[in-house]
Amino acid sequence: MTTAQGIHHITAIGSDPQRLVDFYTQTLGLRLVKKTVNQDDVSAYHLFFGDQTGGPGMDLTFFTFPRVATGNRGAGQVTTTSLAVPAASLSFWQARFETLGVTQEPLVDQFGWERLVFYDPDNQQLELVGVDDLPADTSQVWTTSQIGVEQAIRHFHSARMLVNDKSLIEPILIQSFGYEQMAEEGDLNLYVQPGVQRSAYLELQVDPDAGPGRNASGTVHHIAFTAEDDSAQNELREQVRRLGLQPTEVIDRYYFKSVYFRTPAGVLFEIATSGPGFTADEDAATLGERLALPPFLEPHREQIEAGLTPVTVKQ
Ligand code: ZN
Repeated sequence: MTTAQGIHHITAIGSDPQRLVDFYTQTLGLRLVKKTVNQDDVSAYHLFFGDQTGGPGMDLTFFTFPRVATGNRGAGQVTTTSLAVPAASLSFWQARFETLGVTQEPLVDQFGWERLVFYDPDNQQLELVGVDDLPADTSQVWTTSQIGVEQAIRHFHSARMLVNDKSLIEPILIQSFGYEQMAEEGDLNLYVQPGVQRSAYLELQVDPDAGPGRNASGTVHHIAFTAEDDSAQNELREQVRRLGLQPTEVIDRYYFKSVYFRTPAGVLFEIATSGPGFTADEDAATLGERLALPPFLEPHREQIEAGLTPVTVKQ
């Protein structure tokens, strides 16, 4: 059986693009690795925040619509995006959030990891998870003048999905993607992708009475899982089809290839290839500095740029 290789990226909807760039690059210390447009609506930015290259496993992305309605978290969504940091750094982050006025909650322990829940400027719920056994290789970690390698966000730890009925999604995780159930704690279920170095975990929160989420500003639009290459993507797509689901054809997104399908539980899933990645059209040293457009949009650059408010990364 072909297995997925953990979380590839998580895409949320945001409102003000400059405010998001300020928050994710300055407050959280991530790198804006790609500034491009939503290929299905070029009036909207598609912003990617990651480590040095925004590789699979550390790639938080946003579609931004300045006049979008406010969404709410609920069943059928990823309700918390979890980011791994060194366990000893949580007090640094608590103090930093306090100083910078970021809304945060008291630390909680779930499945043996301490977690610091916080909210971005669109009220999206995220958490920093203190991890003791992070990979020793820190060459891909992005650091800033205020956030060093001892504190920096390393990669996705997990993503929590809220569902009314576990049976509407668990078979996809286990039979199509190769996750294994690892633990259960109250209404939470923890799954792991064996052998994956980063972004190996997933959580399901099961609440039969939870109302549906409303997908707009401050909520997650979809979660993508990594396929090692094109052939793994085709295999994973077939494994999804075998459960009676209807994945799209392969769509070339230029930075990776994508297949989408909506799970019966409501969550929108994507299977994305690990490459070619964000250095396909920019040097690693200057990622994210200019508006990047895939070749099929490049002829329309002038009109596209005219429809966007410029955003910049402040030093
Ligand atoms: Zn995606």
